[in-house]
Amino acid sequence: MEKIKMITPLVEMDGDEMTRILWQLIKDELLLPFLELNTEYYDLGLEHRNETDDQVTIDAANATKKYGVAVKCATITPNAARMTEYHLKEMWKSPNGTIRAMLDGTVFRAPIVVNGIEPCVKNWKKPITIARHAYGDVYKATEMKIPKAGKCELVYTALDGSETRELIHDFSGEGIVQGQHNLCNSIESFAKSCFNYALDTKQDLWFATKDTISKKYDHTFKDIFQEIFDAEYKEKFKKAGIEYFYTLIDDAVARVMKSEGGYIWACKNYDGDVMSDMVSSAFGSLAMMTSVLVSPEGYYEYEAAHGTVQRHYYNHLKGQETSTNSVATIFAWTGALKKRGELDQNKELVDFAQKLEEACIQTIESGRMTKDLALITSLENPVVLSSSEFIKAVRTTLEGIRKS
Ligand code: NAP
Ligand code: MG
Repeated sequence: MEKIKMITPLVEMDGDEMTRILWQLIKDELLLPFLELNTEYYDLGLEHRNETDDQVTIDAANATKKYGVAVKCATITPNAARMTEYHLKEMWKSPNGTIRAMLDGTVFRAPIVVNGIEPCVKNWKKPITIARHAYGDVYKATEMKIPKAGKCELVYTALDGSETRELIHDFSGEGIVQGQHNLCNSIESFAKSCFNYALDTKQDLWFATKDTISKKYDHTFKDIFQEIFDAEYKEKFKKAGIEYFYTLIDDAVARVMKSEGGYIWACKNYDGDVMSDMVSSAFGSLAMMTSVLVSPEGYYEYEAAHGTVQRHYYNHLKGQETSTNSVATIFAWTGALKKRGELDQNKELVDFAQKLEEACIQTIESGRMTKDLALITSLENPVVLSSSEFIKAVRTTLEGIRKS
């Protein structure tokens, strides 16, 4: 078979530790034999970030703005221990944080569902995608301890010096107080990213806040979503046969538990933080969870939801066999290849990516999997494969699918 051609390059961001090892194996076994892989390569491995004073992360984010689609390997976010381990000039910021700030995006996390790895919630049949707003609220709050009786107020001072005041509380004794904010621009970007992603993946979009209690703050979120939906997306959703649904956060939580999945759940920052951990652990494993950053302008950056799997890497360095799950990293590639293919109207590329996803799922469903899944599967007598054996097994399955 002839290799599939790619029109526009994909932005490729290499990373660290065990996932960097998997990255190369995936390219060698699952991509290069089948594709004329066309990427613009950025090495975001910590050593190279350090050598370039982190300029490479900025260049990679700019390239994503230029080409529109990127795929990223997990990377180390430096801490004190990494400063010594890698002889760093500075404690470089999290690459994900830098990229998110430059693309102003929303992160969507979705589980990869396979038979044999059943969600704890038995009626969940389809994935639930969490879209988390990544700006403001309690994460940028100012807090105070109130030591004794006294009046606490919110004060807004306009540029002309005029003041607006609201009483928070007239304290009669000790207490605590917290001031939160958000920006209408950021909420608008969040809403647009969610509506675009729903259209893209043809899934309903749910959004929920506590607007009955928070009549100005949360209500603004609700209003902005509704205004943007009515003005720009109502018709598009109708055409795509999907729905935008707003409800109270308590009602949303209750409905999620009883649903069969298959929708996107947009969450305010705190709700998304908490609920994404609930949803991902209920679906089985972080190693079966993909993550994509979608900017309001329609730039996409795909990655795995897990980190660099440091403990496995140290075993690998000692020459020990590892059994690290590469599925989320493979799906980061297939997600990016599919999106690139759609944008370039390159059907062959989209088909290839879909078949590669099927090959991963079929391999696991046939009972061959990495250790993390073997520990939780409902399939009997699973065969535990090493990191490279699993990728080779996926290749054999893929070759079978492509021939049939
Ligand atoms: P981690 O890499 O996600 O791994 C935590 C543990 O989860 C592993 O030790 C392993 O458990 C299990 N695990 C995660 N992914 C797995 C996979 N693909 N296959 C099998 N098991 C898997 O998190 P971490 O150890 O807290 O962080 C390591 C580094 O990753 C840190 O430097 C952190 O900064 C970075 N990180 C990067 C990203 C990103 O780039 N998006 C995200 C998170 C963390 P067992 O050891 O029990 O087998
Ligand atoms: Mg959390």
